[in-house]
Amino acid sequence: MHNFSEVLSAAGLVPAELEGGDLPVHSPIDGSLIATLKTSRPEDMESVIAKADTAFRQWRTVPPPRRGELVRLLGEELRAAKDELAAVVTLEAGKIRSEGLGEVQEMIDICDFAVGLSRQLYGLTIASERPGHRMMETWHPMGPCAIITAFNFPVAVWAWNAALALVCGDPVIWKPSEKTPLTAVATMKIMQRALARFGDAPAGLAQLVIGDHRVGDALVSSPAVAIVSATGSCRMGAAVGPKVAARFGRSILELGGNNAMIVAPSADLDMAVRAIVFSAVGTAGQRCTTLRRLIVHQSIRDHLVERLQNTYQSLPIGNPLDEGTLVGPLIDHRALDAMQQALQQAQLEGGLIIGGQRRTDGVPDGGCYAEPAIVQIPAQSAIVKTETFAPILYLMTYESLDEAITMQNDVPQGLSSCIFTQNLREAEQFLSASGSDCGIANVNIGPSGAEIGGAFGGEKETGGGRESGSDAWKAYMRRQTNTVNYSADLPLAQGVKFDV
Ligand code: NAD
Repeated sequence: MHNFSEVLSAAGLVPAELEGGDLPVHSPIDGSLIATLKTSRPEDMESVIAKADTAFRQWRTVPPPRRGELVRLLGEELRAAKDELAAVVTLEAGKIRSEGLGEVQEMIDICDFAVGLSRQLYGLTIASERPGHRMMETWHPMGPCAIITAFNFPVAVWAWNAALALVCGDPVIWKPSEKTPLTAVATMKIMQRALARFGDAPAGLAQLVIGDHRVGDALVSSPAVAIVSATGSCRMGAAVGPKVAARFGRSILELGGNNAMIVAPSADLDMAVRAIVFSAVGTAGQRCTTLRRLIVHQSIRDHLVERLQNTYQSLPIGNPLDEGTLVGPLIDHRALDAMQQALQQAQLEGGLIIGGQRRTDGVPDGGCYAEPAIVQIPAQSAIVKTETFAPILYLMTYESLDEAITMQNDVPQGLSSCIFTQNLREAEQFLSASGSDCGIANVNIGPSGAEIGGAFGGEKETGGGRESGSDAWKAYMRRQTNTVNYSADLPLAQGVKFDV
């Protein structure tokens, strides 16, 4: 058995801060209590936000490349602490070692990206219609940015947001999931080391608050919080989005997904099977981009089901700390119950279930382990349109590509999607304006495991936000349009005359 307290102390978490609080933290590996953390109260947010606001007034005047230096140091500290932080991710979120390390690597990658970005916060120069005039756009910092995160990417999502926000001139206030606060405490220790090396960053530039949705709500409701970047369920987004909109704040919503793969007759099935299995059972089906719907051409259905069934039977399920495990635990008993309920509902809706049983043999006692399930279902019924955060893969068939694309789009969520085909026409149709309606659409690669270089996010109930690469940084800044008149005349636009 692995020693949990060694993992925590290697990440710099000392017993005094792990005890005596009101928030119990359990490891999904075996359900054991690993800490009781002290939480903040909603009324404490006023002073937290005031500190962030004071920090903003200083930080916005620091030249962006100097702000980038802080993020460069954060990247260095993350590199040095990669193994230790990844181990806490495994302990607290139940990810297998390789995925825990991958998550910290993603933090490092976004830091590198943001450092380059700190010299590239470009605005346009625009041709003016008036003689002796010049127009341009400048991008300015927005203000404090609240970062509300989900349990399943307990540290990477903070980094996606924080690296960009800090470079863009915005202080950050992080409210992690109440299911994974220890990874956040460990990350803040790494951030503190970067801040100490940086030297003159204002106090309150990067803060952490531990608590549940009430603490999140206090941040969401404050007009002094310029940006609310919230990652989690559609239910959470439905509460947060309207509140931020009502006060004309800016929100970046990264909500649930219900991601599909279309497998066409020409697909390379060896590749498709590998992509399906990684996307459907990786992170025990607890990724926002997890593959949940397989839309298979009817001519290859039986062959594909047989191959998937064989692979599923030999999946190593168990302790995520053990070498060789590919499927770790679900986060808690509620998640396991939700999986079982979804499978019962699927059966009522005509589903034929393979796997999906709770696993108790060969896994640590007290953890919530389940066999990933494949459900052959005749139609895209209500349960298929619901995101159940567990390894359930619904399998349906199609005859024409138009029908497959219609099915792919006929769910409330719009995060990630993909097609496996070697037919160029099919691939291009899938990526076209009348193809996938998702924020992410891939060809011959699964829906999960995105790189940080692209903008990440989705449409419809997924919330419409974009984070990470490309020009996602623009959501963390305000755009100002400037017109400069260097002539000795005052012409009006559109030729309007107004002589006084
Ligand atoms: P959740 O919605 O239960 O909680 C997410 C966070 O929101 C937590 O920090 C929680 O305390 C906070 N929260 C909940 N209600 C709130 C409210 N009314 N006001 C303010 N804060 C509130 O989600 P979860 O179970 O932790 O994570 C799983 C969900 O997250 C899945 O739906 C998954 O698809 C989604 N997710 C989406 C992305 C993405 O980028 N689109 C990434 C990761 C996870």
